[in-house]
Amino acid sequence: MRLEDIYQSPKPVISFEIFPPKGENIQEKTDVLFEELKILSKFNPSYISVTYGAGGSTRETTLGLVKRIKKDLNICPTPHFTCVGLCRPEILSYLESIQELGINNILALRGDPPKGEEKFVKPKDGFGYANELVEYIKSNTNLNIAVAGYPETHQECACLDEDILNLKRKVNAGASVIITQLFYDNKFFFDYLDKTKNNGIDIPIIPGILPISSYKQIERIIELSGCKVPESLMKKLEKYKDNKDDIKKIGIEFAVEQCKELIDNKIPGLHIYTLNKSAATSGVLESLNL
Ligand code: FAD
Repeated sequence: MRLEDIYQSPKPVISFEIFPPKGENIQEKTDVLFEELKILSKFNPSYISVTYGAGGSTRETTLGLVKRIKKDLNICPTPHFTCVGLCRPEILSYLESIQELGINNILALRGDPPKGEEKFVKPKDGFGYANELVEYIKSNTNLNIAVAGYPETHQECACLDEDILNLKRKVNAGASVIITQLFYDNKFFFDYLDKTKNNGIDIPIIPGILPISSYKQIERIIELSGCKVPESLMKKLEKYKDNKDDIKKIGIEFAVEQCKELIDNKIPGLHIYTLNKSAATSGVLESLNL
C-alpha cells in the first residue's frame, strides 16, 4: 500500500522503525529481530520502516530486511535511503532494485556527512539536499515518498523557521508524508504543526516516538539528537537510574502519556522507534489500546 493511502485511515496509523543488525552473526541476529517483529505484528502496523546505515553501509541488508518483512510478515515495508556519496546512476540503480521488490514507498534522506567530515559535500553528479533527491525520485520512479522533519530544528540549521522553509522544498518536490525526529516534549511538536501549517504544508506529519528503556540510552540520545527532555522526567530518570526495571517502567508510562496527548490532538499516526526490541513498544501500545 502507498503511504498516502495508508494515512487516509480515520484511526491513528501505527508504524515501526527497525535497523539492520550489525557485526557478527547477522543471520542469527536477524532471526531474533524477526521473532520480536512477530510479537509486534499483533498491533497491526501499517508499515515497518528499515533504516539505511550511514554512508550506505547497509545497502544490501536494508533491502534483505525489506524483502523478508514483506514475505514472512506480510507487512508493508518502507526502506530508508540516503544519497550520501552517490551519483545519479547509482541512485537510480538502487531505486530500481527497490521497485523490483514490489515496494511502493521510500523514506528519502540526504543523510549526515561521512564520519570525520563536518560539512556535507555534494557528490559529483549527486545531490546536496534531500529536496533534490525527492525531485529525482519523483521524476524517475512511481515510489511514494516520505521525508524527515525536525520539531526541535535540524542541527545544521540556524533556526526552525528556515528549517521549515527547507522542509517545504521537500514537500513541493513531491513528498507525501513527513516523519519526525524523536522528541519528548510535545510542545515542540505542536509548535511545529502550527508553523508548518502557516507555511502551507498540508501533508501528514507523523511524530517519531522512542520509549526510553535505559538511562544510558537517553544520555546517548540527548547527545546525538540534542532533544530536550522535560525536567520532571529527567529528574525521575536520574532518581531511578540504577534500577533498570524502574527506568523501563518510567519510560513506558511517559511514552503512553505522550502518545495519549498526541492522539487527543488528532495526529495521523505514531511512528515508533523500536530499536529492534518488542518489549517497550508492546508496553506502550497495550496501554493505549488503539
Ligand atoms: P535535508 O532535508 O536535506 O536537510 C539537511 C539540512 O539542510 C537541514 O538543516 C535543512 O534545513 C538544510 N536544507 C535542506 N534543504 C536545503 C536547501 N535546498 N538549501 C539550503 N539548506 C537546505 N540517517 C541515515 O543515515 N539513515 C537513516 O535511515 C535515517 N533515517 C532517518 C529517519 C528519520 C525519521 C529522521 C528524522 C532522520 C533520519 N536520518 C537517517 C538522519 C538524517 O539522515 C540526518 O538528520 C541528515 O543530517 C539530514 O537528512 P535530511 O533528509 O533531513 O536532509
